[in-house]
Amino acid sequence: MIKINAKYCKSCGYCIRFCPKKILEMGTERNRRGHFYPVVTDPDKCISCGICASMCPDAAIELPAKEGA
Ligand code: SF4
Ligand code: SF4
Repeated sequence: MIKINAKYCKSCGYCIRFCPKKILEMGTERNRRGHFYPVVTDPDKCISCGICASMCPDAAIELPAKEGA
């Protein structure tokens, strides 16, 4: 599953908008800078496509390392 580093998020929402599985939504908690950050609503549906990570302007999303890589 992806990892969202809340502290880097600025609440732009790009990851939410571009996730093809629509499993990201803005959470209700704020990070230390006062920005809401996204949460994964249904981790089982994540296809590890990496679109959320590549769309994030603040590199706040990490993908898990691929097995065997
Ligand atoms: S890796 Fe792909 S499917 Fe998973 S949360 Fe990110 S954009 Fe959505
Ligand atoms: S794209 Fe990055 S900065 Fe924007 S809401 Fe998603 S995690 Fe936060």
